[in-house]
Amino acid sequence: MFRQTKAVLQKLRYLSFNGQQHTWKQKSTSARERAVQYQPGQKIHGFTVKEVVAVPDLFLTAVKLTHDKTGAQYLHAARDDSNNLFSVQFRTTPMDSTGVPHILEHTVLCGSEKYPCRDPFFKMLNRSLSTFMNAFTASDYTMYPFSTQNGKDFQNLLSVYLDAVFFPCLREQDFWQEGWRLENEDPTDPNSPLVFKGVVFNEMKGAFSDNERVYAQHLQNKLYPDHTYSVVSGGEPLAIPNLTWEQLRQFHATHYHPSNARFFTYGDLPLEQHLKQIEEEALSKFERINPKTEVPSQPHWSSPREDHVTCSPDALAPDPARQNTLCVSYLLGDITDTFEGFTLSLLSSLMISGPNSAFYKALIEPKIGSDFSSVVGYDGSTKEASFSIGLQGMAEDDTEKVKQIISQTIDHIIEDGFEEEQIEALLHKIEIQMKHQSTNFGLSLASYIASSWNHDGDPVELLRISDSVAKFRQALKENPRFLQDKVKHYFKENTHRLTLSMSPDEAYMEKQAKAEEEKLQKKIQALSDRDRKAIYEKGLELLAAQSKTQDASCLPALKISDIEPTTPITPVQISTAGGVPAQYCEQPTNGLVYFRAMCSLNTLPEDLMLYVPLFCSVITKMGCGALDYRQQAQQMDLRTGGMSVSPQVIPDSTHLDMYEQGVLLSSSCLERNLPHMFQLWSDIFNSPHFEEVERLRVLVMMSAQELANGISYSGHMYAMTRAGRYLTPAGHLQESFGGMEQVKFMKRIAEMSDLSQVIRTLPRIKRHLLNSDNMRCAINATPQKMSDTAAQLESFMKQITGNRKERKPVRVNIVERPIDPLDDSGPSRKLVSELNFQPCQMKTFFQLPFPVNFVSESIRTVPFSHEDYASLCILARMMTAKFLHGEIREKGGAYGGGARMGGGLFSFYSYRDPNSMQTLSAFRKGMDWAKSGQFTQQDIDEAKLSVFSAVDSPVAPADKGMGRFLSGVTDEMKQSHRERLFAVSHKNLVEVAERYLSVGQKTCGVAILGPENETIAKDPSWIVK
Ligand SMILES: [Zn+2]
Repeated sequence: MFRQTKAVLQKLRYLSFNGQQHTWKQKSTSARERAVQYQPGQKIHGFTVKEVVAVPDLFLTAVKLTHDKTGAQYLHAARDDSNNLFSVQFRTTPMDSTGVPHILEHTVLCGSEKYPCRDPFFKMLNRSLSTFMNAFTASDYTMYPFSTQNGKDFQNLLSVYLDAVFFPCLREQDFWQEGWRLENEDPTDPNSPLVFKGVVFNEMKGAFSDNERVYAQHLQNKLYPDHTYSVVSGGEPLAIPNLTWEQLRQFHATHYHPSNARFFTYGDLPLEQHLKQIEEEALSKFERINPKTEVPSQPHWSSPREDHVTCSPDALAPDPARQNTLCVSYLLGDITDTFEGFTLSLLSSLMISGPNSAFYKALIEPKIGSDFSSVVGYDGSTKEASFSIGLQGMAEDDTEKVKQIISQTIDHIIEDGFEEEQIEALLHKIEIQMKHQSTNFGLSLASYIASSWNHDGDPVELLRISDSVAKFRQALKENPRFLQDKVKHYFKENTHRLTLSMSPDEAYMEKQAKAEEEKLQKKIQALSDRDRKAIYEKGLELLAAQSKTQDASCLPALKISDIEPTTPITPVQISTAGGVPAQYCEQPTNGLVYFRAMCSLNTLPEDLMLYVPLFCSVITKMGCGALDYRQQAQQMDLRTGGMSVSPQVIPDSTHLDMYEQGVLLSSSCLERNLPHMFQLWSDIFNSPHFEEVERLRVLVMMSAQELANGISYSGHMYAMTRAGRYLTPAGHLQESFGGMEQVKFMKRIAEMSDLSQVIRTLPRIKRHLLNSDNMRCAINATPQKMSDTAAQLESFMKQITGNRKERKPVRVNIVERPIDPLDDSGPSRKLVSELNFQPCQMKTFFQLPFPVNFVSESIRTVPFSHEDYASLCILARMMTAKFLHGEIREKGGAYGGGARMGGGLFSFYSYRDPNSMQTLSAFRKGMDWAKSGQFTQQDIDEAKLSVFSAVDSPVAPADKGMGRFLSGVTDEMKQSHRERLFAVSHKNLVEVAERYLSVGQKTCGVAILGPENETIAKDPSWIVK
C-alpha cells in the first residue's frame, strides 16, 4: 500500500482519542499502573528504560527505551485497551523515483527466512484474529503495523512481522511480481507482445490517474526540491522500470536495520514479553551501524517561485470549463518543534476550516472554484512542515485573481486576527477528540507520532496534548497578537513559497501512453534473442510458482478453538420518548453523549428520492432558527462533536425483497452541552433555512467535486453497487443514493445555472422527513447520565412538531417489524416490501478516463437469517484467499480483488485492475473451483478465522447497539449466525457454490468502470454509459 499525502494530512483531523475502554474488566493492577513502576536506567532484555511518563488525558503511561546494542528506539504506550498494536517504522529516504521503498515494502512481505512460504503476510490474514494488518510507504518512512485482541495472536504476528522486515528472502521472482517486469502479454505465448507488468507498477499507474494525487505529488516535489522529498517514494510509473533487483537489496541492507528502526507497542499486554521476543528473534542478531538516513533541512529560497503542471481532463468534473487548480504552498518550521507544530496546525484550522474561516469566506464563497485544492492547510508529514492554500475546479482566467485574494486574505488576517469564539470552538474540538473513544486508538497514535519521531522529535511530548493547549492559552494571554505574528512571519514574510498551477491537457493520457510505449520499446530493443527467451521462461516460472498449491504450514496460526464461542451481549433498553421509540444503551463514553435518530422515507414521493443525499449533505449547513449558516457552524463546533445526516438503505434480515429506507441523524456532545445540542436539532427540525441559493451552490459544488474525486479511490464500491442494482429492491435504491447514478445526478445539479427548482425541492423533502411521525431514536451515554438524557430527549420530542395532516406512504406495501422481537405489541420499524420485484440480468460499462478497471459481478442469494448465509460468508472469504487473490492480484496484476457477501448479494470485485474480461473469467473460474470442492479443512478453518476477526472486530462505546437499532439484528440473531459460521462444513460449501454460483441458477449483474474497451464496444449485451 502507498500512503498518500492527503491521508497523512488528515491524520490530526481524524485522530480520535480512546478513553477508558473495558472498565468492566476488573483487574487488580491496570496496564497503566504496572507501567508506571518502570525506572529510568532499568535494563530489560537488551533495552534500557529512558523515560516513564503518565499521560492522564489519554489514559496511558508512556515508556521510552533504547536498545543497547543497536540503538533501536522503542516507545510503549500502556493502556487498558485489549486491542493491542505493534508497529515498526524505518526511515526510508530514497533519492530517485523508482519507488524503491514502496517495492521493498511489498517484497519483504513475500517470504522470509523462518517463513519462506510465498506471501506470509496475506496468509496470516487467514490464520489470525488480527483487527488490523497493513504496511505503508510514506515520503520518508515505511511502517508495518498490526493490531489484535488476542495475546497468542500478537506473538504469532510479531514473529512474522519481525522476520519479514529483518530477514526477508527478497527473491528475484518476488521483485518481478511486486515491482516490475517485462513479460509476454500472454505468458504462455512467446509470440505475444512484451509488456510491463508488476503490482507496484500498476498500483502507481492507478494512483497517478487521480488528478488530486498528481497535484499533491508535484507540489511536494517542487516545494522541497533538494533532497528526498523531490522524488516519488511510491514510484513514478515510468521510473519504476529503472530499478534493479540488486538496488532493492542494497536499499534493504541500509534502511531496514535496527539502528534505523523505531518500534511502537500499545495496549494492555505486558511490555517485557514484547521486548524479550523482539530481542531474541531479531535485534540480538545485529550490530550497530550508522544508517545515515537523516533528512537535511531544505535550504530556504530567497524569492518565491512559480510553476505549472498538466493533468488529464476529468470527464466527471462538475464544470468542464473549470478544471484548473492553483495553490500557494509555504515552507514552515521543523516538525520536531512540538509546540510550534501544534500552534501552526491550530492556526491552519482557524484559517481554512468551516464557513467562519477567512479563506472559506474569501475563496470558497465567491465560487471561483469548486473546492479547496486537494492539498490544503497544515501538513506535518515532512521534516519541515508546509501550509497550502488554493482552489481546484477554477477557470484558467481566474489565476491572477486567486493569487491576489490569497495575499489579501493573509493581510486581513494579520490585521484583524481571529474571534475568540472561533478559537474556543477549536479548543473544544480538541477536548472532544481526546474523550471520544475510537476502536483503533493504537493505530491513530502510531500514525500521529510517526513523522516527528522519524526525525528524532520527542513522541512523548506529542502525546501531552493538554500541555500544548495550556501553553497555547498562555501565549495568547501574554500576547494577543500571538497568532497574527505567526501569520506575518510564516506567510507574509516567507520567501520560500511556491505557487503551483495545474491545467488539463486533452492529450495528457495520449502522451503518457506514448511515453510508456517509448520506454517499453527502448527496453525491448536492448534485448537479445537470449534475453527474450529468458523473459519467456521467467514468465512461465512465475506463472508456475503462482499456480502451485502453497504450503503455509511453516506459519503460526490460531485454531478455531481460540475463537470466543459466544457473541458478547450488549444490553439495551427500549422504551419511548415523547411517543417516539427510543433505545438506550449505557456505555463508558468518557462523558460524551451520542444521539441518533432514524427518520423514515416511506412517505416521500418517488421523484424526490434522488435528492435525498443532497438534502442530507446540506440540511445541517444552511442555517436554522435564529442562526445563519455561519453562526450555526460556530455553535455546532462550540457545543457538539459534529452533527450529520446520511441516507440509509437497510436490507431486511429475512426477505431479499424488503428493506427499510430512511435518513440517519447523528451527533455527539459533552454532557454539559446536551441542551444546546438538542436545541440545534430542534431548530433544524422546526425552522431550517433553505432560501440562500448562493450558499446551496457552494455546497453543491463541493459535494459534486468530492463525489467525482472519490471514484478513483472507491471504484470497486461503485462497480459493486451498480452490479447489484437490478438484483434487489434495496440494491436499486442503493445505486440511486450512493452509486454512479447519484454521481451523475449531482454533476447535473452542479451544472445547472438556476438552482431555484432544487431550492424548492428541499422543504418538500423536509416535510416528509423531519417530523416525529416516522422516527426512532437511540442514545449511548454513561449510566450516570442516562436518565437526565432521557428526560431531555423527551422534551426535545415535544419541541418538534409531528405531521399535521396524516401522510400516506407512497408505497402500498409496508410491513411492520417490532423493534423488540419479544414484544409484538410494542413500537415497530416500517419496511417497504416489494414481493413482486423481478430481478434481472444487466451488464453495464462506464467508460472513464482511468488507465485501470474496477470490475464487479453480483449474484442474488439469500438474506441474513437464511441457513445458507453463513456458508456463503465463509465461501466468499475462502475464494478470496485461496483462489481470487492469486488470479486477480498475483497473476492479473490488479491491486486487489475478491468476493464478499452482504445485503443478500454475493459480489466479486477487482480494484485498480489492468484487465476486465480476463477478470470476469477469473470470477467464473473461481465459481468452478468452489464447486469442484478442491479445498481442505485447513482452508475452511482459515476462512472461518478471517470471517470471525471481522465479526468480532472491536466496537466503540459510541457504536454499541447500533446494529440492532438500525437493522433490528439482535444479539440472539447474531449468536445463531455465529453458531452457523462455526458449523459450516466442506459439504455445505460445495452445496452453496452449486446452488448459488452456477450460471442460470440465479440472477446476476455485472458492472465495469474503466477505460475504452473494444471487447465491450463490440458486444451488444453490454449497456455502455
Ligand atoms: Zn503498494
